[in-house]
Amino acid sequence: MAQIIDGRKISAQIKDEVKEQVAALRRQGREVALAVIQVGQDPASTVYVGNKKKACEYVGIRSLSYELPQETTQDELLALIDGLNERADVNGILVQLPLPGQIDESAVIGRISPLKDVDGFHPANVGALCIGRPGFVSCTPAGIIQLLKRSGVEIEGKECLVIGRSNIVGKPMALLLLRENGTVTVAHSRTRNLKEIASRADILVAAVGRPRMITADYVKEGAVVIDVGIHRNEGGKLCGDVDFDSVSPRCSAITPVPGGVGPMTIAMLMKNCVESVALQDAGSLRG
Ligand code: NDP
Repeated sequence: MAQIIDGRKISAQIKDEVKEQVAALRRQGREVALAVIQVGQDPASTVYVGNKKKACEYVGIRSLSYELPQETTQDELLALIDGLNERADVNGILVQLPLPGQIDESAVIGRISPLKDVDGFHPANVGALCIGRPGFVSCTPAGIIQLLKRSGVEIEGKECLVIGRSNIVGKPMALLLLRENGTVTVAHSRTRNLKEIASRADILVAAVGRPRMITADYVKEGAVVIDVGIHRNEGGKLCGDVDFDSVSPRCSAITPVPGGVGPMTIAMLMKNCVESVALQDAGSLRG
């Protein structure tokens, strides 16, 4: 029977740890604050932003909410970010993606101070991860490392396969597994013989964005399988990129959907917010 890696339980532990750190900072007279910016009224974004604010409330982080109209210009958004970059009482800045078509996402990400970029998307933070310097790491892959470590999965020396190479999940995931001394392969839509490559992996991370694509024939007996995907199937039920029913009997540990990777993203955002205080005290990403 595969171990079910419980993302709800592990994310709750992390949020409780963050809550204690926030309380300790408050005892030193310091408050942690996150600015959350949403442009437009995309219903999924509204749900994500709401969940982030709720998590802030739970751990004791002050959230400042900026709800801007759909027709906001890029210059207006950049001016807001400039102001928040300057404010000493704002530690983290988060711009909920996707943004309306008139706004260039990379210009916005690049404008956030790297020291307040709690999503870890700024090129300076991506570069810091690449060369092993302190900085913010994208929350979903950082959460997956926590899931593995806190479930007793050893990464060092293991064959790790990341399926997907997005900037938000696949690439930082590969870099983090490398940092943990895994032997890392990255697959993508042009990869040939994916099943053959996948069947060698001790740790398989599926971030493909295709419902239940990873079936048992991709998975080595005894592998650890992490499912990043999140989809709604025909019946309205949530499912992942992994076909849980066929894969779970083959592997040693697996994350379910829901209740696996999903809850970790917000927990790691909270962790990044509290860590931003030390980065800002240091004044730079250099370590
Ligand atoms: P993207 O669509 O940005 O990236 C998907 C990646 O999968 C691409 O690199 C693509 O390759 C690769 N790919 C697509 N089809 C295949 C295939 N047939 N074989 C091999 N590789 C393939 O997705 P994201 O990385 O943003 O997200 C991945 C999944 O994770 C989605 O389901 C998303 O909803 C979910 N997600 C969940 C989060 C959570 O908190 N649980 C957070 C973020 C994402 P190529 O580069 O060649 O196009």
